[in-house]
Amino acid sequence: MLGSKSTKKQQPLSDGPVIQFDHVNKIYDGTTEDHALVDASFSINKGEFVFIVGPSGSGKSTIIRLIQKEIQPSSGNIFVAGRDLSKLKNNQVSLYRRSLGIVFQDFRLLPDRNVYENVAFAQQVIETPKSRIPKEVSKMLTLVGLSNKFRSLPTEMSGGEQQRVALARALVNNPMILLADEPTGNLDPQNSWDIMNLLDEVNKRGTTVVVVTHNSEIVDRMQKRVISVLDGHIIEDKKGGYVLG
Ligand code: ADP
Ligand code: MG
Repeated sequence: MLGSKSTKKQQPLSDGPVIQFDHVNKIYDGTTEDHALVDASFSINKGEFVFIVGPSGSGKSTIIRLIQKEIQPSSGNIFVAGRDLSKLKNNQVSLYRRSLGIVFQDFRLLPDRNVYENVAFAQQVIETPKSRIPKEVSKMLTLVGLSNKFRSLPTEMSGGEQQRVALARALVNNPMILLADEPTGNLDPQNSWDIMNLLDEVNKRGTTVVVVTHNSEIVDRMQKRVISVLDGHIIEDKKGGYVLG
């Protein structure tokens, strides 16, 4: 069987960029002059690690929501793994989203389920065979350093631990792209570093990682590609540190 036990393979990638924005504009319904995103064009290759930085309200989460196809662009095109998101039919969207893992500032764990159940839930949703779930959940909880906390409830854990559970949940279905929207926004510096180091590790294992953050110290130290957004405009896109105050 070619050594692979996985029955759910990721979609094959095209040779092109894994994420491509082509002159994307976004004006939210009910707003007129305020462009949340203005003529945004960039592409992210398979295996890249990219920070998106900028002040509050500059359009960072809009970029993440557009990639998830949670919202639609007002004009322009977005391609993910070579597929034009505007051409995805409604019944293809949930399958498309399985190729994305996502973590948020506020963790969004199920409060009445323990750590194991929170991660396993992501696999149950996509109908992973029951026999595979324990092994894959364990593997992910070990990766994030929580193999001894299976039975803990989110309310019994620190913010840093909760975010590691959220990360395990985002990764358990082996996404092609990991999106993180201010994943360290609620964490102290040590936990923030732990999460960023895990994201770096995940990236080194081949996942494309896109991280929205305000944390200029981390961005400066990690020396990754940085896309800087201000008032909906991409004002800078280069390797290195944080350019916006
Ligand atoms: P960031 O994540 O950088 O803080 P957002 O992408 O959330 O910024 O927002 C960009 C702009 O779009 C802001 O001016 C914000 O007020 C506006 N905006 C965001 N979401 C909505 C919405 N659902 N309806 C109307 N305006 C919105
Ligand atoms: Mg935001």
